Amino acid sequence: MSELTQSVVQLVNEFAKLPGIGKKSAERLTYHILRIPRGEAMALAEAIRCVKENVQYCRKCYNLAEGEECAICRDPSRQRDLLCVVEQPRDLMALEQSGAYRGLYHVLLGRIAPLDGIGPEQLTIEPLVRRIREGSFKEVIMATNPTTEGDGTALHISNLLADLPVHVTRLARGITSGSVLEFANKEMLADAMSGRRTF
Ligand SMILES: [Zn+2]
Repeated sequence: MSELTQSVVQLVNEFAKLPGIGKKSAERLTYHILRIPRGEAMALAEAIRCVKENVQYCRKCYNLAEGEECAICRDPSRQRDLLCVVEQPRDLMALEQSGAYRGLYHVLLGRIAPLDGIGPEQLTIEPLVRRIREGSFKEVIMATNPTTEGDGTALHISNLLADLPVHVTRLARGITSGSVLEFANKEMLADAMSGRRTF
């Protein structure tokens, strides 16, 4: 790319740092930016700037927030004795879109992953335990992902909460509604069987 200008090389390099973007895609995106109207390119730059300047983690639940507290923590209509623990803000969004939950959340900002060198102290587990200790939650729902690491994280947290007067539950899981047994994989079937409830 020796024939490219310094600015172009710089933009290619910045795009190439994004997840899932290789060198070729980075070049394609750069040429796209060069082609589009100035206003459109500036709007993208401005949106990136705004997100970095205005969005932070909620001081209570670590959801994304504009301001100190997120919209959910500020919403007086949420059920305040129910706490749902998720790994990432995007998990919270998925649960919100389901419309099935009206309590509060706590976002861990990851999961315990020893193989990646991520321990409990790198997550928001300490503030979570403090929050439960000081709060008036009746139930804490573990909604970490149904993976080995997600399960391990939920187990670690539920051990920390063992001596507190709070009911710890785990999201039910198993066969996706609308699917048929024949097409469920064996992990889903095993989960569905062990998580079975009274009919
Ligand atoms: Zn919040």
